[in-house]
Amino acid sequence: MPGSPFTLIEARGPALPIVVDSPHSGTDYPADFGSVLQGLALRQGEDTWVHELWASAPAHGATLLAAHFPRAYIDPNRSLVDIDAALLDAPWPGPVEPSRKTELGIGLVWRLMDGKPIYDRRLTVAEVQARIGRCWRPYHAALDEALAAAAAQGPRWHLNVHSMPDDSYRRLGLPDKPLADVVLGNLDGSTCDEATVATIEEALLSAGYSVARNDPFKGVEIIRASGQPQRGWHALQVEVKRSLYMDERRERNAGFDRLQRALDRALAALAAHARR
Ligand SMILES: [Zn+2]
Repeated sequence: MPGSPFTLIEARGPALPIVVDSPHSGTDYPADFGSVLQGLALRQGEDTWVHELWASAPAHGATLLAAHFPRAYIDPNRSLVDIDAALLDAPWPGPVEPSRKTELGIGLVWRLMDGKPIYDRRLTVAEVQARIGRCWRPYHAALDEALAAAAAQGPRWHLNVHSMPDDSYRRLGLPDKPLADVVLGNLDGSTCDEATVATIEEALLSAGYSVARNDPFKGVEIIRASGQPQRGWHALQVEVKRSLYMDERRERNAGFDRLQRALDRALAALAAHARR
């Protein structure tokens, strides 16, 4: 893959201890992907445009990190042991602890896209190791560095930002019910304090969006690693419903600007909270 696997934009003006990371909005499909699915069929996993929705983060004093590679190639929001043995042509030479995500075919390296096989072949161990080395590790190194810099003066806030399909309950194999516009996840209260969730929640509610907490998305690997509220390290996953801002062809729709303004208000509220 040519070029950097991510973009990192520093705060403009005085920096606040806030990091926003968008691990799934990458759209640079590497030439060595070797998938059978192509085009929109392969792009279903993307949180397309999410880094653009949050583009005002640096103006609010936050650092903004966005992956360039697509999450179906390798998913930065999975641990390195979330390995799918059914995808490999040889045993993995390290610890393997497949999670529920791997059971669903969407572990560290995705095997399925919306239930369809992504490959007509097995991947080599070297191929997966190369994806880890070129994408996963540099992304996490950049995130860790930004988080460490943010925490240098005390508490820090980390927003891990995503978008979710409108039929998320079905995809997760859960009983169907209406999906909120925004789902805030903090692993059932364990990755940030109540004030952090309430700050973001109030800003979005006041902008007219419905908000749920931890239902159906609680957060996964990234906030599990970064959220330690007892140390003042607050991490919150923010999922926005895709139909609010893009269409079936993954183009921005008429709702994009309104959602972007609401997220800007949420960032302003978090910045005010961080200053206090
Ligand atoms: Zn995502």
